[in-house]
Amino acid sequence: MQFKSIIILTGAGISAESGIPTFRAADGLWEDHRIEDVASPEGFARNRALVQRFYNLRRAALSKAEPNPAHKALMELESYMRENGGEFLLITQNVDDLHERAGSQNLIHMHGALKSALCTHCERRQPQHSDIDERSLCEHCKTKGSLRPDIVWFGEVPYQMGRIEAALARCDLFVSIGTSGAVYPAAGFVRAARHYGARTIELNLDPSAGSALFDDSRLGKASALVPAWVKSLTHEA
Ligand SMILES: [Zn+2]
Repeated sequence: MQFKSIIILTGAGISAESGIPTFRAADGLWEDHRIEDVASPEGFARNRALVQRFYNLRRAALSKAEPNPAHKALMELESYMRENGGEFLLITQNVDDLHERAGSQNLIHMHGALKSALCTHCERRQPQHSDIDERSLCEHCKTKGSLRPDIVWFGEVPYQMGRIEAALARCDLFVSIGTSGAVYPAAGFVRAARHYGARTIELNLDPSAGSALFDDSRLGKASALVPAWVKSLTHEA
């Protein structure tokens, strides 16, 4: 293996092939809702019931989706790196749990996770597998009705940015998979990785907004591209 520290960034494109519909930037809608209504603190303040119901439905829909060959290939790459003493970090912008279910371990959900709830009272989080409503109880402070989806909304700061920035400074390979390259700060990761001297690759359906910043750009479906790419990396001499 020529690389000692790999960072993978994934976006909606990898989950779309598992049947998870995503926010469409073109019309500003996510499952027929305006994004500002269901993915902003202001929207939550205006209509808590609507926002809770929206994420309850998304959470429930996860049980109908399965990880696809791209998710599985990333788990295999992580195992390979661990066995060979390398570093591997998977950063996802997705809020589904398909990477976990594929077996990925060193994983950051920078935009939060549907299977987690955040207490607005004590600011601690808890695993969340069922619906959240006004009767839901925080398991830490026991406050009723204080839980919200543990999702990073527009205007909020993505999670674990310090850890991500430190990893970007150390990696020698940065790979972006299934992401439009339009949403910051994730869209800026490729520039940071390049700055520190990493090789950069994108595996995407279409060229992303930052396509010119990648050393190599391979276009196609993640479920085909990612397993082939992982195989080429782990089977090299
Ligand atoms: Zn609490």
